[in-house]
Amino acid sequence: MYSYIDPMTTTININNLPKEFISRLEVIFPDKHLDSVLKSFIQSKKTVFRCNGLKTTSSQVSKLLSQSGISCIPVDGVNGAFLVPGDQRRALTESEAFRDGHVYIQNPSSMIPPTILDPKPGEEVLDLAAAPGGKTIHIADLMQNNGRIGAVESVKKRFFRLKENIKRADANIVKLYLKDGRSVGRQCPERFDRVLLDAPCSGEGLFDLSNPKTYAFWSEKKIREMIRKQIRLFDSAIQALKTGGTLVYSTCTFAPEENEGVIDQILRKYGSTIEVVAVEIPGSNIERGLKKWRNIQFNEQVALARRVVPNDVYEGFFICKIVKRKPTHSI
Ligand code: SAM
Repeated sequence: MYSYIDPMTTTININNLPKEFISRLEVIFPDKHLDSVLKSFIQSKKTVFRCNGLKTTSSQVSKLLSQSGISCIPVDGVNGAFLVPGDQRRALTESEAFRDGHVYIQNPSSMIPPTILDPKPGEEVLDLAAAPGGKTIHIADLMQNNGRIGAVESVKKRFFRLKENIKRADANIVKLYLKDGRSVGRQCPERFDRVLLDAPCSGEGLFDLSNPKTYAFWSEKKIREMIRKQIRLFDSAIQALKTGGTLVYSTCTFAPEENEGVIDQILRKYGSTIEVVAVEIPGSNIERGLKKWRNIQFNEQVALARRVVPNDVYEGFFICKIVKRKPTHSI
């Protein structure tokens, strides 16, 4: 039995989460991280924003916000990211800087995939699962609004939210597509310099015990459904990528089947056409990809992926960087 004291009022019982889910976590995470993972389901994350370099600078934002009584504390090792004390979140969302798209509230884990993707000005980039757009905006910022980003989203309501966010951020190089990302590879083969696949997933890293809606749907069957979707989007991403191009796959879930398992399946399918490459992510909460799950021993390249272990600032995340070594029409 695990239980933790909710700092606000009561004891929240972690055992409200599905038993099978907890047992899986005990296998996925080494003992030193398990406590932090379990606590992440009751802790509300600190508010973090990224300063939008397309509109402003970090020093201008800090100055503007401090004039409204909001203190900005730089997040260690993350360029342009600032922490805001919990009781100032509301003031932040009501600030002019927020309304005008000078800041974008985003967990620092979500800032890792665009950084790892490392897009350059003038390139053509595909964001295959883009809404609500935090990572698309970050990519446009890294490209200094020079080049082109194709941002694809298949869910109408989310697409319109993406559209609004992109407009507010002045990410002018983004071309939006309301469509199924699974068809893009067939329609635009060998086209993009870089592809981000921030995949739809079972979202275990965002489970919140105070909101059963976040975890009520959980089952291994649901995980299997997600894998099918992820593999088809991955196929599309690889086809759409130029030979020599870079792909980043990320999820906000802990399920090894959707993370290391998907990379392993893709490596089996594409062989030497693709290669997983090492990434440097500093931090004591960063772990390498699992070597095995249940009775499946993964391809050794899979361990080059990285897991972000959740804590009071970071959400749980999985990130893997891949380079396409050969054209896909040759396989
Ligand atoms: N990258 C986004 C960001 O940072 O703001 C978050 C992406 S979220 C993890 C995954 C998104 O993929 C969801 O908005 C979901 O609606 C979308 N999606 C699911 N299936 C899709 C598909 N077949 N094609 C394109 N988008 C899809």
